[in-house]
Amino acid sequence: MISTMIRAVFPGSFDPPTLGHLNIIERASSIFDELLVVVAENKQKRQLFTAEERLSMMANLVKASGNVKCLIWDSLVVDFMKREGIRLLVRGIRGTEDFSHEFELAMMNKAIYSGIETVFLTTDPKYLVLRSSLIKELASFHGDVSLMVPPLVAQALKNKFSES
Ligand code: ADP
Repeated sequence: MISTMIRAVFPGSFDPPTLGHLNIIERASSIFDELLVVVAENKQKRQLFTAEERLSMMANLVKASGNVKCLIWDSLVVDFMKREGIRLLVRGIRGTEDFSHEFELAMMNKAIYSGIETVFLTTDPKYLVLRSSLIKELASFHGDVSLMVPPLVAQALKNKFSES
């Protein structure tokens, strides 16, 4: 019998990882044989956490899932997928605004690498309003983010904003 491993990537900034991201990771990793979480290093985008910090948080958060791996990538995700021979790209969708943006990205990615299929997972309604940018803003005012991010991320946000 021929067995083919179905591998997928879930790319993002994860600045920082939220319960919304983790929910997508948990669900995608139960569908695919292997899920690679690609932490995007984009020098153009100003991030609160360095790529290494984001990777370290994410790796810690998914360490119990045997089929999830995390890595940093500083170029087009499509190039990573081509190199690895992976065709499935997972993205999470919170609503129509996310969808129109993600739809364009998916079209663009397909134009670069026709073998790509983007798989959209709709958010769990519990996490509908979770957005890294809003969470960072809230944390910068020392607001309570404990229902939005795992404890290790809440602590990292606290440390970041007490540095400044
Ligand atoms: P990017 O900068 O690439 O959009 P993000 O870290 O903001 O990276 O998000 C990575 C992926 O996770 C995107 O597909 C985004 O739509 C999805 N995502 C973010 N927050 C949520 C959430 N609360 N529920 C479902 N998907 C989410």
